[in-house]
Amino acid sequence: MEQSEQRIKIAVQKTGRLTDHSIDLLERCGLKVTKSKNQLICYGENMPIDLLLVRDDDIPGLVSDDVCDLGIVGLNVVEEKRLQLEQEGSNGRFKQIFELDFGHCRLSIAAPEDVDYVGPESLKNVKIATSYVGLLTDYLKRNRIAAEPIFFSGAVEIAPKLGRADFICDLVSSGETLLANGLREVAVLLESEAVVIQTLAPLSDEKQALVDKIIQRLDGVLKVRDSKYIMLHAPRSALAEIRALLPGSESPTVLPLEGSDDKIAVHAVCRENVFWETLENLKAAGASSLLVLPVEKMLA
Ligand code: ATP
Ligand code: ZN
Repeated sequence: MEQSEQRIKIAVQKTGRLTDHSIDLLERCGLKVTKSKNQLICYGENMPIDLLLVRDDDIPGLVSDDVCDLGIVGLNVVEEKRLQLEQEGSNGRFKQIFELDFGHCRLSIAAPEDVDYVGPESLKNVKIATSYVGLLTDYLKRNRIAAEPIFFSGAVEIAPKLGRADFICDLVSSGETLLANGLREVAVLLESEAVVIQTLAPLSDEKQALVDKIIQRLDGVLKVRDSKYIMLHAPRSALAEIRALLPGSESPTVLPLEGSDDKIAVHAVCRENVFWETLENLKAAGASSLLVLPVEKMLA
């Protein structure tokens, strides 16, 4: 087997909303990459993992065709590709293996502000501009609505103003773009976030073990993202109250303080952010010498 075939290839968006987050997460999993001159491939220096930098729309196809073993891409793109392939009579050869909790958005139908919308039946016989013809067609079919999807490759939100469509179906996160174009969200078709997909082609045992290790590390990175390590001193009698105030923590470590019968040190990992109010409440409960530290890694 060729050396390159033993390396894992991960397809990542080249430039866009997912790029920085995707590479940052992989770096937090311990991967160091060098960018090549053509910027198409980032070679892993310390692990047999290379990143292929591509357009996000190409990622499910590259994973399905086994050009890449894994891909990091929005669920919206994965589902659209799956439906497109189904409509062409074939199946995507990829599976979703992990949710990454970033790139959150939703695919929604939006209507011009002055248009009445009472429910899916308001879509009967209208034109809907979208880049997501597969997902929209599927939604219309499931709701038994005869409406016409009009394919737009970008700038979907101006279609009603141009008279090309009555409604639009596009990705929304804050809703500001819709508002700026005089549109309002009327139906959500899909809630999306970035996910990891894997090819259905079987991997060698070594490669699969490395994929499993990356996923375990990703899980560890995501679990501690908002976690803090908190240390404090307190009178032993205040322990119960202090435990109740520690946000999202499991059993804390309680240690006696040298030279004091009554005082203890409490150390705990809090799974939620620790705000100033929490520290002030802990202090009011008798805690002193409070320290809050970020948690970088966790392996359960
Ligand atoms: P490419 O050049 O790679 O095709 P693109 O323009 O299709 O890029 P981006 O705008 O960078 O893609 O969005 C990438 C992904 O980010 C989307 O597919 C979606 O999963 C996610 N996303 C999160 N919020 C939004 C949003 N408000 N609008 C569009 N995409 C969003
Ligand atoms: Zn794209």
